Amino acid sequence: MPTYKAPLRDMRFLMNEVFDYPAHYARLANGAEATPEMVEAILEAAASWCEEVLAPLNLSGDQEGCHFNAGKVSTPAGFREAYRQFVDGGWQGLSFPVEYGGQGLPTSLSVFKAEMMGAANWSFSMYPGLSLGCINTLLRYASEAQRSQYLPALVSGEWTGTMCLTEPQCGTDLAQIRTRAEPQPDGSYRITGTKMFISAGDHDLAENIVHIVLARLPDAPAGTRGISLFVVPKFLVDSDGSAGQRNAVSCGSIEHKMGIRASATAVLNFDAAVGHLIFEPNKGLEAMFTFMNTARIGIALQGIAHAEASFQGALSYARDRRSMRALSGKKEPDSIADALIWHPDVRRMLLTQKAIAEGGRAMIYAAAQTADLMFNAVLEDDRAAQAQYDNMLGFYTPILKGFLTEMGLEAANLGMQVFGGHGYIHEHGMEQIARDARIATLYEGTTGIQALDLLGRKVLIGSRGKCVRDFTRIMLRLAGPHLAARGSKGRMARSLTRHAIQWNLLTLRIMWRAARDRDLVGSTSVDYLMYSGYVMMGHFWALQAEQARQRLRSGQGAESADFYRAKIQTAEFYFDRLLPRAEAHRRSALAPTRSLMQMDNGNFAFP
Ligand SMILES: Cc1cc2nc3c(=O)[nH]c(=O)nc-3n(C[C@H](O)[C@H](O)[C@H](O)COP(=O)(O)OP(=O)(O)OC[C@H]3O[C@@H](n4cnc5c(N)ncnc54)[C@H](O)[C@@H]3O)c2cc1C
Repeated sequence: MPTYKAPLRDMRFLMNEVFDYPAHYARLANGAEATPEMVEAILEAAASWCEEVLAPLNLSGDQEGCHFNAGKVSTPAGFREAYRQFVDGGWQGLSFPVEYGGQGLPTSLSVFKAEMMGAANWSFSMYPGLSLGCINTLLRYASEAQRSQYLPALVSGEWTGTMCLTEPQCGTDLAQIRTRAEPQPDGSYRITGTKMFISAGDHDLAENIVHIVLARLPDAPAGTRGISLFVVPKFLVDSDGSAGQRNAVSCGSIEHKMGIRASATAVLNFDAAVGHLIFEPNKGLEAMFTFMNTARIGIALQGIAHAEASFQGALSYARDRRSMRALSGKKEPDSIADALIWHPDVRRMLLTQKAIAEGGRAMIYAAAQTADLMFNAVLEDDRAAQAQYDNMLGFYTPILKGFLTEMGLEAANLGMQVFGGHGYIHEHGMEQIARDARIATLYEGTTGIQALDLLGRKVLIGSRGKCVRDFTRIMLRLAGPHLAARGSKGRMARSLTRHAIQWNLLTLRIMWRAARDRDLVGSTSVDYLMYSGYVMMGHFWALQAEQARQRLRSGQGAESADFYRAKIQTAEFYFDRLLPRAEAHRRSALAPTRSLMQMDNGNFAFP
């Protein structure tokens, strides 16, 4: 059976030596409790719970799947007990306000915990994962009364939350939403409609489920300007805050799907269910974006979680399994053949997985720090800082979600490849990781939609390229002092500098051409997103390599010399073998739209 070991050494390296989280926490209004000892205790407790409780339920959960019986959904064996432990451990409330029963710790700690949970068992992690966005939306937009009604049970994990956007006729294009909300004399609303693909929409883990639902008021304008946001509990909430009478929301079915089979994906029917408006009428989509940004960083983590899990499986197999002799001569003369890990092509696969997992983790840790700073600005009521960090996070989000989930899928595929035919067999767990990873590029906005968000909304319209200029300035600052250095240090610095300049030029060229060609942004956006992802990951690999070099030189690091050397070597691999892909994306991004758009729709096939 596949096992999982939390990559604590890598996490500590990033936290303490690359991003200096101890100093970062010391500066935050809610960081006083996040002392190095406390952080270490949280990481270790989360790691052992994920390794010992969640990981062993991953394969069996996939095999058994969820059950749907007479309108009721049940999760696979072991999930209820594990969820109970999750609640008893206080894990859901780690980063939520103390006034609602949370521990008030910085957001980033939840992110670190979420990676471990996701790598151990992504399906399981989705039940509490969906609650995070629900809680954030209520925290930010709900009335005082709504917050005290729902948040304590959500923050403790006794209840879970969902996001109900998708309907049968629309997922991306929410302007087409048909679910209706009829106002009632008592100030509540009756919600009627069908939502589909709702993750954690129904299950047996929690005593109540709080649905955040997008619906239209009777007089709402057409399109996205006429969508409002409602809170609709599965069980109505009594005045003492407990779950009472059953609301008119029912689960019609659950999906039979390719992966994440232990996560219930529900069709929910709202038949005049009682709901309450959150935020202002017709401004639901605006409020929902809080939900979506939180969820999207959560899904970016899925790429890393699957890359890490698949890498761990593949590495152990490649060390054990023997096949033929290494090209450069016998390496293990006492064995019948050399281990797979000696073969250059197997090393290419393993190093690609490692580079994706560890490079992606660094990107997430940088974004998590920005999320902490944004929350800190909210606590300190510093509007300017809030806007600054919000913009930064808005730039990171589509790159992380789009690029890291695509790369996570590649890593998961490579894991199967390292196993050869055995990778295709269920019991090894590698094909499950590939199936589970596949959804990440689809939900929470497909890669295509993330790319349009990045290039259209964030880069061109939102900032006229400023977000790229700001990030590339950081790249240039990192590279500048090492431009004349010898060896890989200098090569990385020069490559980073070239890419920083090129990223700005690419943005400018697209900006000029987009003014004349309406199809340009859509035709170029996925290549632009992938280019941005490769370059951004290059920056974070160069940063890790530089920190490792400094530790090696000073002999002051917390890790072994081998650990630091492996970091530098992985960075070298990334710059030699993966970053060059950025150039193909750049060239493709600049190709004329004509070859994409010229074919008549009727001429795509001639049956
Ligand atoms: C397992 C699973 C769990 C899910 N969980 C949830 C959940 O909890 N809550 C929820 O509300 N939804 C959920 N979803 C729905 C998911 O978010 C949507 O499926 C997704 O957003 C895509 O929408 P769609 O399926 O309608 O595809 P469509 O919107 O029909 O898109 C089809 C294709 O066309 C592309 N496309 C569409 N419009 C454009 C455009 N304007 N420009 C360029 N390309 C475009 C898309 O990128 C995609 O490739 C889940 C789905 C699945 C499968």
